Amino acid sequence: MSTDLSKFFYPKSIAVIGASSKPGTLGYELLGNLMNFGYNGKLFPVNPKADAIHSIKSYKSLLEIKDDVDLAVIMLGKHLVLTAIDECKKKKVKSVIVITAGFKEVGEEGVTLEKELIAKTKKYGMRMLGPNCMGIINTKKEVQMNGTFIKGTPVPGGIGFVSQSGALGAAVLRIIEKYDIGFSQFVSIGNKADVSENDVIDYWKDNDDVNVITVYLESFSDPKEFLRICKEVTKTKPVIAIKAAKTNAGMKAASSHTGALASADTVAETLFEQSGVIRVNTVEDMFNLGKAFDRARLPVGNRVAILTNAGGPAILTVDEADRCGLDVVNLSEKTKKKLREIVVAEASVNNPVDLLPSANADVYKKATELLLADENVDAAVLILGPPLMFDTVEITKYMCEAVNKSNKCAIVVVMSQDEIIAEVAKQMPVHPPIFNSAEKAAWAIGEMLKYKAWKESPDGKVKQFNVNTKGVRSIIKKYKTGNVYLDFDDVYDILNHYKMPIVETLIARNVQQSIYDANKIGFPVVAKVFGRELVHKSDVGGVALNIQDEDELINVESRIIANLKEKGIDDKLEGFILQPFAKIEDGVETILGAVKDANAGHLLMFGLGGIFVEVFKDVKFKIAPLTTADAKSIVRSIKSYEILKGVRGKKSVDIDFVEENILKLSKLVTDFPEFTEIDLNPFVFSPNRNKSKILDARIKLG
Ligand code: ADP
Ligand code: MG
Repeated sequence: MSTDLSKFFYPKSIAVIGASSKPGTLGYELLGNLMNFGYNGKLFPVNPKADAIHSIKSYKSLLEIKDDVDLAVIMLGKHLVLTAIDECKKKKVKSVIVITAGFKEVGEEGVTLEKELIAKTKKYGMRMLGPNCMGIINTKKEVQMNGTFIKGTPVPGGIGFVSQSGALGAAVLRIIEKYDIGFSQFVSIGNKADVSENDVIDYWKDNDDVNVITVYLESFSDPKEFLRICKEVTKTKPVIAIKAAKTNAGMKAASSHTGALASADTVAETLFEQSGVIRVNTVEDMFNLGKAFDRARLPVGNRVAILTNAGGPAILTVDEADRCGLDVVNLSEKTKKKLREIVVAEASVNNPVDLLPSANADVYKKATELLLADENVDAAVLILGPPLMFDTVEITKYMCEAVNKSNKCAIVVVMSQDEIIAEVAKQMPVHPPIFNSAEKAAWAIGEMLKYKAWKESPDGKVKQFNVNTKGVRSIIKKYKTGNVYLDFDDVYDILNHYKMPIVETLIARNVQQSIYDANKIGFPVVAKVFGRELVHKSDVGGVALNIQDEDELINVESRIIANLKEKGIDDKLEGFILQPFAKIEDGVETILGAVKDANAGHLLMFGLGGIFVEVFKDVKFKIAPLTTADAKSIVRSIKSYEILKGVRGKKSVDIDFVEENILKLSKLVTDFPEFTEIDLNPFVFSPNRNKSKILDARIKLG
């Protein structure tokens, strides 16, 4: 069941505590907005000193109000807020909005005050929005609530917008008319002391008034919850988000490859990708795409038709369409023939169809109908450059009418005349999305197609494996302090407990024993330094490959010891790691790893391994636990997937086995969250799963 915030969005009565009769104050503006927008419930201003505000009766205290109060909006000085909450409790108000600022955002004193506020509302079983927020809007006819102090009139539509920044919300509300952005609901969550973006998104999941969810975030309240909720919501309706990149203290100290490859933005990027949330970088993109989803149908395929009255914009649109994976198709002969009958002789009836500037509303309308009726076409971008001598509003309306009658995806583009968009929207409340940029329209259709693919993709599930968790637990118990790398023999045992294919390894305590071990393994062998503090073995000249016989082994090991002596670290040597020399041949070196983020938990990483990992950075992340669908997606999303699938006559590696090992590592870090960093590098995958081996592994205990 989703979070119930209905008393916030659909209140039957609102008390405005701190309403003011002084123009210019927040208390005056907010009450004014509620009245002017035509709020359909009962309104109760509360102010101990006023009898009437905005010509309605004002109450000295909340308790004077006889009726039930669904929602209280508090806009008092910050030291009066707690008392107001006590009054709300007495009046049995369960939902409160604290507009007042001066809490967590101002430093220590504010932090304490906010904590008291949270404790109080929790104790009283209230839900609280804010503090330090701008309020809430619901444009639905039955509610008609503008519970903000923002200037500008909300326009109804199907977009829900939740904003962590109040100022950004305010800026958006000022441009909505110009850009024809129709909101059903808007909420400013401020400091998110109680109600967070997660609550709102979850609430909107089952809310039929919200068709598209847009989100502006500066931080995640709870990344794992965000992932869980958005994964579900995005299967029903699109979620589009902007998130400013922030440095991530959680992973800064990482010393593994996996840690080094995770950037400050990795958590956000991974969360969005894994939950099907569409990330954009600008407010303009967010609302362009928002209105495309709200007002157009999802395209069923990628074949687009472009209609224009000018060549230049159409060419740019073709390029952008191509970049976004759209196919600017050949129109059917039938369509071309019919187009010929309505256009001037010089016009082009091939896609992009160029009607030339002389085209009037009728021609535009018929051409639109013909394009959308073509069985080769899934979607259309309908561009109108400033026409020569016709009424742009009329042409746009004619195009919109034709689109309204079709069941295909189409975006109308009116170039360099923003005022036309607002005018058409006013005259024709039901209309397709109207953009001012044709490239953006192509991009939006591309995003809609990607979303459709996501929506239809299988959910996947977290797979269980029969592994020896007890064995791993007893290894961890041996370590008395945290923040250490496990000894290689322990790493070897752990991977075996999880049935992950670490190459056969023997640990020799001295040269004599290493000769014995090497013979046991069988030459050629590999010798590496063994020592708790010798974690990066190649860096200290401590790895020797392809050793053919006993003599070479003795030579190599004495050279290694000499290397260490030179560096003054020979006392760190505790022995030698002996392994068979694995021929990579038809295998591919990959890296599989995990790193723990303080907020989001473990991120799993998979990508192309070998000595160039940090140059190519061809790796992808997912938050654990991964589902079978996540494992499939991570393998397929790296560029080197082509290499895994086999290039230049090479056979494909066993992809199922790759996925299985990704899921096992995900299980390992889920079972043992105390492992903060894991690198399996190189992890060589071969066409034959029995020849796929982990050649080196590091595990760090937190
Ligand atoms: P480091 O601690 O420097 O990462 P590794 O054990 O990864 O040491 O060894 C360095 C490189 O040597 C590996 O990246 C791999 O290319 C190669 N290598 C390591 N072990 C083997 C092996 N058993 N067979 C073949 N090549 C190996
Ligand atoms: Mg290595």
